[in-house]
Amino acid sequence: MSRTPDVIVIGAGMVGTMTALGLAEAGARVTLIEGEFPGGGSTGAAMGHIVVMDDSPEQLALCAHSRDRWHQLAASLPASGEHDRCGTLWIAADDAEFAAGRQRIASYAAHGVDAELVDQRGLYQLEPHLRPGLAGGLLVPGDAVCYPPAIARALTERAASQNVTIKLRTHVDSLTPHGVRLSEGGTMAAGGVVVAAGVASPRLVPGLPIVPRKGHLVISDRRPGLVRHQLVELGYLHSAHTFGAASVAFNLQPRRTGQVLIGSSRELVGFDQEINHALLGAMLARATGFLPALHQVRVLRSWFGFRPATADKLPLIGPWPALGNVWIAAGHEGLGITLATGTADIIVAGILGTTPPVNPEPFRPDRPMPAMARAA
Ligand SMILES: Cc1cc2nc3c(=O)[nH]c(=O)nc-3n(C[C@H](O)[C@H](O)[C@H](O)COP(=O)(O)OP(=O)(O)OC[C@H]3O[C@@H](n4cnc5c(N)ncnc54)[C@H](O)[C@@H]3O)c2cc1C
Repeated sequence: MSRTPDVIVIGAGMVGTMTALGLAEAGARVTLIEGEFPGGGSTGAAMGHIVVMDDSPEQLALCAHSRDRWHQLAASLPASGEHDRCGTLWIAADDAEFAAGRQRIASYAAHGVDAELVDQRGLYQLEPHLRPGLAGGLLVPGDAVCYPPAIARALTERAASQNVTIKLRTHVDSLTPHGVRLSEGGTMAAGGVVVAAGVASPRLVPGLPIVPRKGHLVISDRRPGLVRHQLVELGYLHSAHTFGAASVAFNLQPRRTGQVLIGSSRELVGFDQEINHALLGAMLARATGFLPALHQVRVLRSWFGFRPATADKLPLIGPWPALGNVWIAAGHEGLGITLATGTADIIVAGILGTTPPVNPEPFRPDRPMPAMARAA
């Protein structure tokens, strides 16, 4: 009997590990190849907010399904995954943002996502340390936070226990008509190849419209109880979902350790490897503007990572017709932790020929793409 694996998955980030595990659980023979270690890419730099975003109906549908799947998975995650269903509290700075929050409730409800408006008084009951004068908020109680690199590690171990062959510190040099060529030499054959290499995916599949979108984060010392929910300004939607100049937005996460994770920034500067101190300063100023008590916390560490971004704000999930038997699971920008579960479901359904849980058509990797992603 041939020992050729049915499927090779390239990349053990959140997307690749979730996909490899899903394929194995569905009965495929799988090899997971990772150039470094599980969670060492964007997954290890992420904030870990599992959030339903509603920038477009397609995004909302995939987020809602993906979050449901995280809920199902949560009980089986190790404690190190720090999965906490703390909810998202979207902050309305003024009446216009409060009205915008109200509008989102109906579209959430259409996808079974609970959300409730919180008036000014309710806002300060939920989060007493916010600055005075804010208008209110939108509470999405089913959202969660997690510690992504620990989950990627745990999923890799689980995949190994499901007979997935795991090859770490093994770099794929290129795709071949029937599998992959390894940088260390030699080839591996497979019936199908899933490229889940995050921002590095275009190196394996030239023409894939993904660009790196750099983001900084900061973690504080322990301040238990300072915040209780993932706090995000409603204005974040503008920063996250336009594709222009550098921007910052208030985005704060309570960690199980009592620390506070402070974000976030967005920049299109290629793979620039320097901390942008000016942008980091603007990000912290934005955060302290919403939560003045942050002036008293000590910053322990700051870092940056690269979101795999597409110009139309949707991930690339599905077959890549120019290369037979190659599947793409990449380009999730700032939602790759959230969407990893739903992405895996779409890829598993596509490869095994079953019915996908959400319409995969909007995520086809070969869809027409606005020019910016290609040019950047
Ligand atoms: C600052 C920041 C904050 C974020 N916050 C959130 C958040 O709160 N919520 C959320 O949902 N998302 C968030 N994201 C986005 C999220 O991190 C990414 O969308 C997600 O991690 C992408 O996962 P991935 O598995 O596709 O890629 P990666 O995690 O980058 O994994 C790809 C893997 O492929 C490997 N690889 C690459 N090339 C090769 C090769 N040739 N051969 C072998 N292996 C290879 C890499 O080593 C890497 O481990 C954030 C991102 C950043 C930068």
